[in-house]
Amino acid sequence: MELRIGFECPQCQKILSVDFSDYIPTEARSCRKCKQSVVLTDLTLKDFASDLRQYCEF
Ligand SMILES: [Zn+2]
Repeated sequence: MELRIGFECPQCQKILSVDFSDYIPTEARSCRKCKQSVVLTDLTLKDFASDLRQYCEF
């Protein structure tokens, strides 16, 4: 199972996900839906904590 990090686009609320191996803090990603630049933030890291917790339960 791949570990993926989910984060929400502030513009269209689409949940984006990136591979953990592809994760670079502070790097902007563009939303696949609206092309808005989304910077990974501490909020994302909170989500990441729960993603990681779920991952570890498998
Ligand atoms: Zn978007």
